[in-house]
Amino acid sequence: MEIRNLVCTFGGRKVVDDVSLRIRAGQVTCLLGPSGCGKSTTLRMIAGIEMQDSGEIYVDGKLICDTVFRVPPERREIGLMFQDFALFPHLSVADNVAFGLKGPKEKKRARVEELLAKVDLLRYIDGYPHQLSGGEQQRVALARALAPRPRIMLMDEPFSGLDNRLRDGIRDETLAILKEEDAAVLLVTHEPEEAMRMADEIALMRRGRIVQQGAPYNVYTRPVDKAAVSFFSDIN
Ligand code: ADP
Ligand code: MG
Repeated sequence: MEIRNLVCTFGGRKVVDDVSLRIRAGQVTCLLGPSGCGKSTTLRMIAGIEMQDSGEIYVDGKLICDTVFRVPPERREIGLMFQDFALFPHLSVADNVAFGLKGPKEKKRARVEELLAKVDLLRYIDGYPHQLSGGEQQRVALARALAPRPRIMLMDEPFSGLDNRLRDGIRDETLAILKEEDAAVLLVTHEPEEAMRMADEIALMRRGRIVQQGAPYNVYTRPVDKAAVSFFSDIN
């Protein structure tokens, strides 16, 4: 997927200011930057739930959105995951994971079982969200987002609601599952440590603009400016 020159303005202010980015299947690209720099807005434009003022979005070289033409969100083959896992409380774990699936019942069931096995929650298939811990709910949300085999996975600070003790383990597990499913992943985070741990590529964002982009090691060892140095300095 490629976005070109995306701009989004709120009340005359360019919250996203000429952002271009390419993400590839099987890779995790991190959009990293301080709170308020425009990360979520960028993600919402890609998902099709926020409209850009200018710029285009392409998938496989095909235009899916500009200011006149627009593929609706539900036809973009995009999986979404947010900080609050937003599972449906009245649906079983199985029905949560099956929510976006179409087709014959047996096929849906097989996909649900496959994913719940991957996130190691098969034993809760007939349970309900309230019976699960935060970390487990997060894994169900991951299974649900991946179930329809999205080509693009958009994740907005998906780990920030989790207990510190659990977070590293869940990051690693999530990464392994994402790699298996081969989606192109765009992960939004304000934590440099998370980007360093998970990304194949980091796009560093500040005040609506991407100020640096590259492999984690390069971004970390060759910061563009003093602000980038201090942003990374709280990693230990
Ligand atoms: P981030 O995800 O990096 O924290 P956001 O994309 O959520 O940043 O927000 C960027 C800026 O845009 C913030 O200053 C925020 O207050 C503003 N903003 C976001 N959404 C809206 C909106 N719907 N209306 C007005 N301002 C908004
Ligand atoms: Mg945000």
